[in-house]
Amino acid sequence: MNLISMGVDKLRLSLNKERSPPPTRPQSTASSLDSEDGAMSSVSVTPVRTPSNASELALDPITITTLERSTSNKSPPKSISIPSPAPLKPVHYLCLSPSHPSPLSPYTQQELPASNGEDKDYFSQPMNEKSQLSISSTPTTNKTPSVSLSVPSSSHLPTPALKSPSRAIHTVGSNSSKKYGTHATFNASAARKRYLVKRNKHRKLCLDDFIIKQTLGTGACGRVHLAQSKFNKKHYAIKTLNKHDVVRKKQVDHTNNEFTILRDIAHPFLVTLWDAFQDDSHLFMVMDYVPGGELFRILRRQKNFSEDAVRFYTAEVILALEYLHANEIIYRDLKPENILLDAKGHVKLTDFGFAKRVPTYTYTVCGTPDYLAPEIILSKGYTRSVDWWSLGVLIYEMLVGRPPFEDENPVNLYEKILDCRIDWPEDFNPVIKDLLLGLLTPDVEKRYGADLTNDRDIKQHPWFASIDFDLVFQRQMVPPYIPSVKNDGDAACFAKYKEPGHPYGKSQSCHVIDPYRSKFPAF
Ligand code: AMP
Repeated sequence: MNLISMGVDKLRLSLNKERSPPPTRPQSTASSLDSEDGAMSSVSVTPVRTPSNASELALDPITITTLERSTSNKSPPKSISIPSPAPLKPVHYLCLSPSHPSPLSPYTQQELPASNGEDKDYFSQPMNEKSQLSISSTPTTNKTPSVSLSVPSSSHLPTPALKSPSRAIHTVGSNSSKKYGTHATFNASAARKRYLVKRNKHRKLCLDDFIIKQTLGTGACGRVHLAQSKFNKKHYAIKTLNKHDVVRKKQVDHTNNEFTILRDIAHPFLVTLWDAFQDDSHLFMVMDYVPGGELFRILRRQKNFSEDAVRFYTAEVILALEYLHANEIIYRDLKPENILLDAKGHVKLTDFGFAKRVPTYTYTVCGTPDYLAPEIILSKGYTRSVDWWSLGVLIYEMLVGRPPFEDENPVNLYEKILDCRIDWPEDFNPVIKDLLLGLLTPDVEKRYGADLTNDRDIKQHPWFASIDFDLVFQRQMVPPYIPSVKNDGDAACFAKYKEPGHPYGKSQSCHVIDPYRSKFPAF
């Protein structure tokens, strides 16, 4: 209880995220009780973003269709249909991510690859590689050694040296292929290396390469803008962070982690980062623009999703988490607000502000309160399995329309999480309930995950019996909802924000020296 109270105290210190439309669920924040080494210090903030306001919710009705390939274990697949103008067929050049052109490359219509060209570049090699490796997707051995959560402090733990980003990437294909599914071995492929080279071979980007446009979303320390490359006229998303705020909110390590992790990953269901840079006052991260908006916004409009739609989004998120974990990266902020949809309706996880390379344990209490695993609240050392707890919360929220643990009072919320007090709707499918009980368990040894050496591989659960994860990886599953995206810079799927006029690129007076530049060496 002491720890919970401490968490609440820290929560009171935390700051709310700016959002122009009024919130319809309470702003949530999470605080860091401990630094990564176990010492009390930092305050990490990740508010739950709020949906658009009521009038906006009434606009643009959407249709969630059932999936072609899925067969439900429950009642016949439902089709939730709200009258809507027929969704526009996405133009193929909007679907190129993650093989978008570099922001510096001239890119003409003639150079556009054939439809699905990105899939060829992105997937052909891994699939060949998979057949060479012939990794079975069934569990190969019994459980991994048990994870003890009763470790009082990191000083009692061996602290293995963190791998450098590039080293971690290279080890995945060989080591992790035995431990994780074949979809996690993507980063060993030649295609991925080609992609990383393409991403890294241009000169460092700078603010002057872009025309900064409207705000797409806001964070605790800044905002994400739509931006147009002056070279190829294509649109990107630029995340800006106020350095002073980052330092004041003790987010320096998290921010550096965000860039160095995003720089080294490439996966169909993760947002693509091109480069990062800084001016005297701000940090900038240039990403591919993901035009379909937040899954959160669709969920709030729709109230909840059909079982098939939930299975679709869950399957894509599982492969993203599996890939991150195979790279010893813990994500720590899974929630519908951080799941964007590309123009075809496939998932892109964004916001790596809490992502961290964690070979073993970490201690920071961070994340979003509704989504926090019990071991985080208890401030014990925890592992990547916290992401699987959050997946359980996400599945429940997508199906029911609200998270399984809710309370305006953080102390009560944390008690509910620790007690695993879940309010199951009456007609809840027992197969999904079994899956959720396997995810929302405080016993991390029994919790589902994607580790093949563990007999709790989530992909083997009966609820996914109809899912071919190879097809999921190749983005061959038909998305339940196709965003209405009319052209490359269309931001209709995002909420509207007040635009106060941006302060970027202005040099400070020659008497004021930027005191923070050295804190962000990677930018
Ligand atoms: P973040 O601060 O990273 O959580 O981003 C805040 C919001 O900006 C997200 O919730 C999205 O709505 C939006 N956003 C972030 N990254 C992108 C992107 N690559 N493309 C489009 N929108 C984005």
